Amino acid sequence: MTYNFTKKLNVKKEYDVIVSGGGVAGCAAAYSVAKRGCSVLLLEKANILGGLATTGLINLFVPMCNGRGKQIIFGLAEKWLRDSAKYGYDTIAEPWKDGQPTEYTEVRHVQCYSPYIFAFQLTEEMVHAGVDLLFDCIGVEPVLEGDRCVGVITESKSGLEMYGCRELIDTTGDADLLRAAGAPVRRGENFFTYCTKMITLDGCKRALDSGDMAKLYSGLSGGGINLFGDGQPADMPRWSGLTVEEVSDYLIRNQLIVLDKLKASADKRRERDIATVPMMPQFRTTACIEGDAALRVSDAYKHYDDSICAINDFEHRDHLFEVRYGTICRGDLPNILTAGRSASGIGYGWDLLRVIPPAILTGQAAGEAAVLAIEQKTDVARVPIRALQSRLEDANVMIHFPDEYIPEDRSVVIHGKRAAEIEGGHF
Ligand SMILES: Cc1cc2nc3c(=O)[nH]c(=O)nc-3n(C[C@H](O)[C@H](O)[C@H](O)COP(=O)(O)OP(=O)(O)OC[C@H]3O[C@@H](n4cnc5c(N)ncnc54)[C@H](O)[C@@H]3O)c2cc1C
Repeated sequence: MTYNFTKKLNVKKEYDVIVSGGGVAGCAAAYSVAKRGCSVLLLEKANILGGLATTGLINLFVPMCNGRGKQIIFGLAEKWLRDSAKYGYDTIAEPWKDGQPTEYTEVRHVQCYSPYIFAFQLTEEMVHAGVDLLFDCIGVEPVLEGDRCVGVITESKSGLEMYGCRELIDTTGDADLLRAAGAPVRRGENFFTYCTKMITLDGCKRALDSGDMAKLYSGLSGGGINLFGDGQPADMPRWSGLTVEEVSDYLIRNQLIVLDKLKASADKRRERDIATVPMMPQFRTTACIEGDAALRVSDAYKHYDDSICAINDFEHRDHLFEVRYGTICRGDLPNILTAGRSASGIGYGWDLLRVIPPAILTGQAAGEAAVLAIEQKTDVARVPIRALQSRLEDANVMIHFPDEYIPEDRSVVIHGKRAAEIEGGHF
């Protein structure tokens, strides 16, 4: 049976920019647009902001330095890392407590934070910046006139509605609106990973003894496979995460494993509880656009004229990259940008791009680019790159890494494999 659904929708309100998806990338994009004085609507399907970085319980800024005491990632990522340590617990290492260390250190610049306190801080950032925020509201699909997006259909307690826009930024993490617009995407293959937060009497004692809530929680995992897929059972599927059946299959398998573990320790039932579970699937890579450029491992140590930010490898020391503007847009999409998990990357290059600090920076770049496109009355792919870079530099983003940070040995080995072996592939 086919059911044809038709409903006439009037534009409820017009915005300069709509950002769909309030993860860290979407928050950075919306914040950057609002700071430039343009009107912006941020749609978030959950009840708090932050996406995987809060709702998904991935509450750790991966290293933002080269592993030798030099910071690479600044901009809003640095601001929000520091903010996340203001009202909740923090794990910022001693050399980085007061900013970039003055002496050589191999200790890395990371921060584990309270996900919910940080989420509320993001809400405050958006409200103070003047972002219009709709929670519990899904961006269903873009409304296209030819190849231009003129609005977004939303679904919420108010039913189906339509908001108008001049520019759209898809930060759903899964390229939901880009896919609906027909944009070509690369699909991910996700390993078996699912981790809840446990609270135990031991954890309470650790926190009490140390006076530090960071020591309270422990993890209880369903699938515990890392991003390289080490130990992924051969009979376990790899999920794209892009169908309701796959999402449900992944959740059911994981919940049953967690329950089995709890049953196996039933004798301890008074000594532990699940404190919180991820309220979105912990999929790393679902869909990213085939952008005008893509970040690859073989880009290591290369400079690009169209760089929007320098980033470092979070797993390995030294490796440095410049992210090209074309990773967040395509020439045939005149007014749609993306950022974060759906920015264009290949193989491990996609992993480098999707983690929290770079996701914030590509979000920042997408927001600034959308504003420039409006000001210059041009397509997003034609935004003057130097003007974009200069706005990002004003916002404290490092565009090009300094040559003195490039090591003598420029070989790039990722998880024991050379770049040529992993390009385009998955571990
Ligand atoms: C298992 C795992 C471990 C990780 N470990 C780390 C780590 O230790 N450190 C690190 O820095 N990074 C880590 N990451 C990566 C990091 O968490 C994410 O890649 C990053 O937070 C992505 O941010 P984002 O804003 O691009 O996307 P997301 O966080 O996915 O945000 C997308 C947002 O859009 C919303 N949304 C989705 N669809 C719609 C829609 N149609 N309409 C409206 N809203 C919508 C979602 O609710 C969500 O809030 C890990 C990821 C996973 C899965």
